[in-house]
Amino acid sequence: MALSAAEGKLTVITGPSGVGKGSLVKQLLELHPEIWLSISATTREARQGEIEGDHYFFLNRDRFAELVQAGGCLEWAEFAGNRYGTPRQPVEQQLSLGRPVLLEIELEGARQVRRSFPEAFQIFLAPPSFEELERRIRGRATDPEEAIQRRLARAREELMAQQEFDAVVINDNLQVAVIELESLMGLSC
Ligand code: ADP
Ligand code: 5GP
Repeated sequence: MALSAAEGKLTVITGPSGVGKGSLVKQLLELHPEIWLSISATTREARQGEIEGDHYFFLNRDRFAELVQAGGCLEWAEFAGNRYGTPRQPVEQQLSLGRPVLLEIELEGARQVRRSFPEAFQIFLAPPSFEELERRIRGRATDPEEAIQRRLARAREELMAQQEFDAVVINDNLQVAVIELESLMGLSC
């Protein structure tokens, strides 16, 4: 089912793992609590410190498949060996209430949203260089080496797709990137 044009504005942020999407979104939400951030479902194991229903809804593969089967995902994709999806109902509800809604999702999901909801504004967050991206992924120290390798390989593919997006923001200095994002989303500072 395609989303109807709702009053709230839907923004998608995509970018390679480790580029700083989480850091940027956290700052944006602190500055603009009116924004509603979608909490995704995933089959990935929770990282240390991640809270169910706060960072993600952690589901096993069967439960995730049931959710998809029931049409409960606005989009979903496989990323680095795990599945991730945006629960549809809360997004539709928040948009109908007129709230700005933010999705932080990977490339395939962004492409699906582009098809089902072309009015959404899509932003690609890019690193200043690939070397810096690798430094950040490793510096975060949350993933095993094999997962890091998969994420770096996927990052190369994602970086090649940045021209598909409505805007590209380079996350060199985080504060500058936040200001650019605010401007692109039409948020008053
Ligand atoms: P993502 O959500 O895109 O996977 P994170 O927000 O987890 O990325 O950031 C990955 C790492 O990079 C974290 O250690 C974070 O502190 C760091 N980081 C984020 N933005 C910047 C920046 N502008 N400059 C330097 N380090 C950054
Ligand atoms: P991580 O495992 O680092 O939390 O996330 C891995 C990737 O999955 C990131 O690029 C993140 O943006 C993406 N992701 C998180 N939630 C969703 C979702 O609901 N759908 C899609 N397609 N990607 C998601």
